[in-house]
Amino acid sequence: MSTASHLYGAIEAGGTKFVCAIGDHDGQILDETRIETRDPAATLTDVCRYFHAAAHKFGDLRAIGVGSFGPLDLNPNSPTFGFITSTPKPGWRHTDLAGALKLGLDKPIYLDTDVNGAALGEQRWGAGQDLDSLAYITVGTGIGVGVIHRGHPVHGLMHPELGHIYVRRHPADSSFAGMCPYHGDCLEGLACGAAIVARTGRALKEAPPADPIWAIEVDYLGQLCALLVLSHSPQRILIGGGVMQQQMYPGIQERMLHWLQDYIGAEELRRSQYITAPGLGGSSGVKGALSLAIAAH
Ligand code: ZN
Repeated sequence: MSTASHLYGAIEAGGTKFVCAIGDHDGQILDETRIETRDPAATLTDVCRYFHAAAHKFGDLRAIGVGSFGPLDLNPNSPTFGFITSTPKPGWRHTDLAGALKLGLDKPIYLDTDVNGAALGEQRWGAGQDLDSLAYITVGTGIGVGVIHRGHPVHGLMHPELGHIYVRRHPADSSFAGMCPYHGDCLEGLACGAAIVARTGRALKEAPPADPIWAIEVDYLGQLCALLVLSHSPQRILIGGGVMQQQMYPGIQERMLHWLQDYIGAEELRRSQYITAPGLGGSSGVKGALSLAIAAH
C-alpha cells in the first residue's frame, strides 16, 4: 500500500470528458472518476471538488499532472503560460487551465499536451520502457502526436502539432475536401475518424478491412511516420486511438518505408516492433498525466 506522501493527482483533460485520478509512483491508479466537459468554470469546479474529496480520503497529494487537449502555451516566460490557446472547442479558447487548477487546489500543477503525457507514461510504464526517444500518435476524433527526446517531452516555442501537417494526396483520394476547421485537408482533416466516416458513409467499425479507405488511411499515417523519422528520429513509434486496428500496423510501416525510399538505413525501421500499439491501452492518457506529475516533481 502506498503512503500518502507518494500520491499524485492525474487529470486527462479531453474535449468530452475529464478523467481525474489518484495514483502512486508505480503507476497504480487508486481511484478514478469521469467528469463531463462543459464550460471551463463548471468543469474545473467539479475537478477541484473531486481532488479535495480525494485528499480527504487518501491524504495529501504531492503534485498534479495534467495532460490536456490543446494547443497549449507551455513557455514558462509567456504571460499566458499554462493556457489552452487557439482551440476550436467552444468556450475553451484562452482558458487559464493551469492557473485555475493551481488556484483551486493549491498544489504544483504540471501541464503538457495529452499526447506528450501519454508518450511519457508509455516510456515510464508501457511500450517504451527501454528507450529514451519515442513518438506517440493517437488517431481518433483528432490526430495528436507526442514526442519524447532524451527522456523529456519535446517543447519549444510551444509544442509540436504534427496532426496538422499537410500530406501528399493518395491518388484515390483527390476530391475529399477534408474536415479540419483550420486547414481543411491537413492530415487530421483527411485521416481522423470523422473523415473516414464521411467518405464511407458508415460507422468506423462497419467499414470492412477490404474497403479502399484503409489503404488511403495507412498511406497518410505512413507519411506521418516517415516525417517523424526524418524530423525527430524516434527509436519507436506507438500508435493508438479509436481508429487503429491491428492489421493497420504493417501497412503503415510499409508506407513509411515507401516514403523514406531507403534514405534512412537504420535496420530498426524494418522491425515489426518499430511501429506498434501503446502498452498501456486505455490507460495511456490518465497514466500519462500521472507520469507528468512524477517526472516533474
Ligand atoms: Zn488542421
